[in-house]
Amino acid sequence: MPNPEPAFDELYREIILDHYRRPRNRGVLAPADVDLHQNNPLCGDEVRLTIRLKDGRIEEVEFLGQGCSISQSSASLMTERLKGLAVQEADQLAEAFRQMIRGSPPDEERLGELLAFQGVSHYPVRVKCAVLAWDTLQKGLEGQVGGAKG
Ligand code: ZN
Repeated sequence: MPNPEPAFDELYREIILDHYRRPRNRGVLAPADVDLHQNNPLCGDEVRLTIRLKDGRIEEVEFLGQGCSISQSSASLMTERLKGLAVQEADQLAEAFRQMIRGSPPDEERLGELLAFQGVSHYPVRVKCAVLAWDTLQKGLEGQVGGAKG
């Protein structure tokens, strides 16, 4: 049985439900530079993320998954934001998202529509749902970021 959805601000609820019902960038890229599957056993959420890189930037990104609305809409919104970002910028975006979910004041300019998930910080049980796609992203990019940072 799915958990009841947290009571978010109406606009944010619309954004989340819209991406849950009509996920963007749904599919699997093949071949892909990053292909990683992660799950959140607490809620039964799953995300598989495939990314194609070109010149240190994310050229294409798609995901497949199943689970609660928070996990799937977070993945969908994430893929919309990633195209064209340098690997390091994607990592910074993930960190900004993570900090917001932990309850820090959000970097509104960087996060944009992702602010829809700010309310999740009040529901510790949903935090893993919201960050699942971002965990997958950061883990998948780990090897790719190494070179850029040096
Ligand atoms: Zn979930």
